[in-house]
Amino acid sequence: MMGSYKGKGMGNEDYSGIWVFAEQRNGQIKNVAYELLGRARELADALGVELSAVCFGHEVDDVNGLIAHGVDKIYLVDSAELGDNQEDLLTQQLVELVQQHRPEILLAGATALGRAFIPRVAAALPTGLSADCTDLDIDADKRLLLQTKPTFGGNILAVITCPEARPQMATVRPHVFSLHETDGSRKGEIIKVDFKRERYTSRTKLVEFVAEVAETVKIEEADVIVAGGRGLEKAENFEMIQELASVMGGAVGATRVAVDEGWLAYPHQIGQTGKTVCPRLYIAVGISGALQHVVGMQTSECIVAINDDPHAPIFEVATYGIVGDLFQVVPLLIEKLKKR
Ligand SMILES: Cc1cc2nc3c(=O)[nH]c(=O)nc-3n(C[C@H](O)[C@H](O)[C@H](O)COP(=O)(O)OP(=O)(O)OC[C@H]3O[C@@H](n4cnc5c(N)ncnc54)[C@H](O)[C@@H]3O)c2cc1C
Repeated sequence: MMGSYKGKGMGNEDYSGIWVFAEQRNGQIKNVAYELLGRARELADALGVELSAVCFGHEVDDVNGLIAHGVDKIYLVDSAELGDNQEDLLTQQLVELVQQHRPEILLAGATALGRAFIPRVAAALPTGLSADCTDLDIDADKRLLLQTKPTFGGNILAVITCPEARPQMATVRPHVFSLHETDGSRKGEIIKVDFKRERYTSRTKLVEFVAEVAETVKIEEADVIVAGGRGLEKAENFEMIQELASVMGGAVGATRVAVDEGWLAYPHQIGQTGKTVCPRLYIAVGISGALQHVVGMQTSECIVAINDDPHAPIFEVATYGIVGDLFQVVPLLIEKLKKR
């Protein structure tokens, strides 16, 4: 990881607390911030430190609500010039706050914005950053953040630490952590920070914001996902998967093989190079359970796997396993569910 810069005369012991960047878009805090706060609260308790959220934007809704998600302090920078999330300004403002308050850990969502500006914050401080983590933990004795992420093409899960530089920084994709219950009785403090625009330079100017064309496939939000893999053999057989999903009011997912074969479009792909999902029920049909797929669905509440190979790795993460031919099992399931 990076070198040992900590500001003149500073040691690791001069850094304390966990910060989460609470990203907003159009004045709404993104769900990924709440997901991160749930996990970050556990990490902060393990270290015995405060949890803070950093929120940059203009007239952001329900900043107070962050407290119910486990936050002790909120650093709120409210300015019309921050509403559009211009990366140059965000980078400089966050670097300045980190240098002033010295958190030992800084976490952010691996969203389009997080991926774009958080590495610049890490480089400017400078410190290490693990992008796209799939889990976070704490070694409380060494006060180290254990940052798990798939590496070597997704073939191993590496646990990365940043023993020398501070803060320890990581980004995590949306839906990796589930939302925790909120506690409306919690107390916290909002610290308003003046945005001193004249102190910062920006090489970019926002000309226009063009919203992404709404995706028709919202598998990230589905409670039930029925996903198919190579075992389906051809595109037409995905009609069966679609039918099973419809009967349960769910969405259809796919492995990369199914997408590469052209059986389903890319927005359906789940896994390391697709989407990360966390539905209440995930039914994996004809899917072997390669690590690159599993990292995108392993946090689902209940996983049902249908596979004719009893040794398929998908059974290692499945809550319930059905060993059998999918062409017999799926029609039977559809029939039974329709009767109910
Ligand atoms: C850098 C990188 C990134 C990747 N990213 C992703 C990603 O984002 N998402 C992803 O999914 N993969 C990804 N992969 C690919 C991944 O490694 C696997 O190749 C892929 O997930 C396997 O897809 P599959 O399970 O559909 O196919 P297979 O591994 O071929 O498994 C098919 C399964 O179907 C079962 N089967 C066959 N016929 C039947 C039947 N009649 N009844 C019941 N079961 C049957 C078989 O027993 C087998 O277990 C990535 C790979 C790399 C190198």
